[in-house]
Amino acid sequence: MRQRFIAPGAYVQGAGALGAAGEEFAALDADDAYLLGGETALSTVEDRVTDGLRAAGTDVAAVAAGVGQCTHPVIDTHADRVREAEADLVVGVGGGVAMDVATAVAHRTDALLAVVPTVASTDAPTSTVAVIYDEDGAFREVLHRDRNPELVLVDTAVVAGAPARFLAHGMGDAMATHFEAQAVAAARGKTDAGGRSAFVAVDIAERAYRRIADHGADALAAVERDAVTPAVERVVEANTLLSGLGFESGGTAGAHAVQVGLTNVGVREPHGVLVAFGTVAELLVQDADPATLDAVLDVVFGVGLDVTLDELDVGDADLHRVGRIAREHGTAAEPADPPAERVADAVRAADELVRRRRAAR
Ligand SMILES: [Zn+2]
Repeated sequence: MRQRFIAPGAYVQGAGALGAAGEEFAALDADDAYLLGGETALSTVEDRVTDGLRAAGTDVAAVAAGVGQCTHPVIDTHADRVREAEADLVVGVGGGVAMDVATAVAHRTDALLAVVPTVASTDAPTSTVAVIYDEDGAFREVLHRDRNPELVLVDTAVVAGAPARFLAHGMGDAMATHFEAQAVAAARGKTDAGGRSAFVAVDIAERAYRRIADHGADALAAVERDAVTPAVERVVEANTLLSGLGFESGGTAGAHAVQVGLTNVGVREPHGVLVAFGTVAELLVQDADPATLDAVLDVVFGVGLDVTLDELDVGDADLHRVGRIAREHGTAAEPADPPAERVADAVRAADELVRRRRAAR
């Protein structure tokens, strides 16, 4: 198998970046845009995005607010509207869900895709991937657009103005990428990009983790006060770009697999919270050295992502199912290839590690 590395056409980030949206949209050379996103996100940035589109000579054919779920019916509805509007550009505005819907809709309609993340809570924006759930919020499937977004436009001032917890969630998603890419590379597994893990993606994933370990707490403190600092810029880039490139061409494994297992027993906590917990479980599956485990727990606690099974409302009776689903969704990509029982044991042991560290504080 060959290695395969894929990336967005352009990644633009900075405080006030939306002020220059016109130049970036102009490079896409689209005639008609279909803008979709969450209510809050659109209320914050819709004017700047539509001004940018018009400055680029792109008409705004329709604006669809209130995108709150990425399900097949939601994707169908927006894809129909894009065709009716004869739009050749889909612009997704908001968090992970809006990015996923925009990605799926652009794929279905063969439109260009620009994404404007207003939070840095997942690495969805830079990727070809859309994660589709059912109406109850349980994981259904992963869809791949045939290419990454033509444009990812991140205004760091907007991201810093969003509730700080979103940035922490993104750090949970991003820190996992390093350990997952390592696992997939060691097992010579296949990635979302459709090849063997690319060396550069494994390196980038490691950088994402180091950034968060070094700057995560500082960045979180800054966004608590809506401030943009160099630490915030570094972490936003780690959460959005580095983690996205790292997972897509480096591979996902145990941490995301445990997250899928947890959502399928009814847990509805944010993606990054579950992935952070899954990272601790993954390290136990991998028999990681104590110093690494300790460092990861430092990061998890440092940015307030610590959570117990009790708080997730996951009982012992659910753990076998968590282990079985996790195996179907990625722990088999781990070099150790653990049976479902061992994954369930790792989840239980991760819970105990979190409890003990809390008690020791
Ligand atoms: Zn993720």
